[in-house]
Amino acid sequence: MEERLRALLVAPPGAGKGTQATAISEEFGVEHISTGDLFRAEVAAGTPLGAQVASYLDRGDLVPDDLVHRLVREKVSEAMGATGGYLLDGFPRTLAQAQVAHAAAVEQGVPAHAAVTFEVPRAVLVERLLERAQADGRTDDDEKTILHRLDVYDRETEPVVAFYEGLGVLIGIDADRPVGEVTASTIAALRAALDRA
Ligand code: AMP
Repeated sequence: MEERLRALLVAPPGAGKGTQATAISEEFGVEHISTGDLFRAEVAAGTPLGAQVASYLDRGDLVPDDLVHRLVREKVSEAMGATGGYLLDGFPRTLAQAQVAHAAAVEQGVPAHAAVTFEVPRAVLVERLLERAQADGRTDDDEKTILHRLDVYDRETEPVVAFYEGLGVLIGIDADRPVGEVTASTIAALRAALDRA
């Protein structure tokens, strides 16, 4: 059977991960797994997991790794079963998450073909997030929480980018451009990574 895309998006809040993930997952016919969306759905549905994670989301802090791993493991294996590939959006967000996920994926013979990072200047990210706050009223989109989430990204998630660079699967995309251009560049780079697999 033809190999399906397995990829991760590692980028700061406001870089366009969600929008790009929708386009990429449609293009490659694989499931889009957004850990942020999954956690928000748990909170909205009032599940026990939702109750455990709500305060982290509201503060813009990361949910503890054990809760993240449980959810991701289940969703990735469902996605592999349903579509033979996956596009993870918002995971991994710490070096520990990346190491555990990589080890598990290698063990199961399904390591990611690529990790994509979207590069956007910080001032542009803040501007985009403030606009989004007005449009969809997420509880973590006020200015103080936005700045905190960007700091959390720099401290906790930036090292994940270097991890995938070390594995030789990193794709860096200039995402301070119109959405369609970013999508086209990303799809071309992922297509090339998949062809090399
Ligand atoms: P996002 O929609 O990707 O911006 O994620 C929203 C929030 O969900 C984050 O600020 C975290 O509180 C939580 N979250 C999402 N993904 C992860 C992850 N991989 N590790 C820890 N927390 C996460």
